[in-house]
Amino acid sequence: MIKALRGMKDLLFEDGNRFIYIIETATNIAKRYGYNYIETPILEETKLFKRSVGESSDIVGKEMYQFIDKGNNDVCMRPEGTAGVVRAFIQNRLDRRQSEKFKFYYYGAMFRYERPQKGRLREFHQFGCESFGEDLVYEDFTIIQMIGDIFKSLGIDYRLEINSLGCSKCMPPYRENLIKFLNGCRDELCEDCNRRIDTNPIRVLDCKNKNCQSLLINSPKLIDNLCSSCKSDFNRLKELLSSADIDYSVNSNLVRGLDYYNKTAFEFISNSIGSQSAIAGGGRYDKLVEFLGGKSTPAVGFALGIERIMELVKMPNRKREGYYMGVMDSSYIDRLFPLAHKKRETSSVTIEYRAKKLKAHLKGADKIDARYCVVIGEDEVKNGTVWVKDLEKREETILKIDEF
Ligand SMILES: [Zn+2]
Ligand SMILES: [Zn+2]
Repeated sequence: MIKALRGMKDLLFEDGNRFIYIIETATNIAKRYGYNYIETPILEETKLFKRSVGESSDIVGKEMYQFIDKGNNDVCMRPEGTAGVVRAFIQNRLDRRQSEKFKFYYYGAMFRYERPQKGRLREFHQFGCESFGEDLVYEDFTIIQMIGDIFKSLGIDYRLEINSLGCSKCMPPYRENLIKFLNGCRDELCEDCNRRIDTNPIRVLDCKNKNCQSLLINSPKLIDNLCSSCKSDFNRLKELLSSADIDYSVNSNLVRGLDYYNKTAFEFISNSIGSQSAIAGGGRYDKLVEFLGGKSTPAVGFALGIERIMELVKMPNRKREGYYMGVMDSSYIDRLFPLAHKKRETSSVTIEYRAKKLKAHLKGADKIDARYCVVIGEDEVKNGTVWVKDLEKREETILKIDEF
């Protein structure tokens, strides 16, 4: 038997329903906030991710589905969604239209070659939004509010953590301070942290090692060293969240795993999945467009982890819907097709091609949660009618074909 690859999963029945329900819910809300769909290729040049996600990150260092294709191109299956959207933004010259704003949403499969474990797949799915051209903190607030709307609509409880990662003015001096502090406790920090001090010291702050965390309690905090612009934006964001009744806490160790974030960073966390786990994350990345060769454009965005959300979503109660149609003699089947085709303009219709007794048809209709069971038997053929049972109201009627 040929099986799916390790860390990759089929989504069918209940899983399939959950998946598409989440995508549809998020899509509807994103549209209300003015977002347009963008589809970008799964396969991109490896250097796109090396540049945008950062060579020092675990994603690029260890987890990429990277290979040389038959044309000798170094290519990679996308490990996240933002890089491709930004590449498309630049390639389509939207960065030249500086007075305009562009808002895109996307969803799809992402690939990371990780050790498969619960809640972590090698092929996983994200829904994300990227907003380009707006540097005001109102957009950061609006995006957080939109994610809140999505989770509310999905019936998911969350905790929101926010932080500011500063800007090119206040981050570099802070980084120097932090490196000084980290060098002072190098011997006590874990191996990963030691490596990160030299490659990406900010990432040390979100080390999950307990011992490292306790050492970091005394580390300098960027939040105390923000420049006046970053500080006033961060304060404004907090005010806006409070006045919208969105609970949040400030986590000064919240740094995004990716290198291009500045100012607002946020994570939505669920306490219900095993260890505390992020179900959405994002923030501002004003430097990335320029970094990838475009004209400097402010941007803010986020991504939701669909698999994690699938474990939490409260699905609405299944409603009986659509039609089940059947015949009691196989010679009547031709009569069903035009009826079904007409009904399919507005409803879902399933036809049972094989002749069955009435009881068996009712069972079939029940099994697929149809609202109406429609059957044609001998009397119906004689009278030009159909027999219809409303399985919700438990009422039977006989209707002329035209009335039906
Ligand atoms: Zn700043
Ligand atoms: Zn550590």
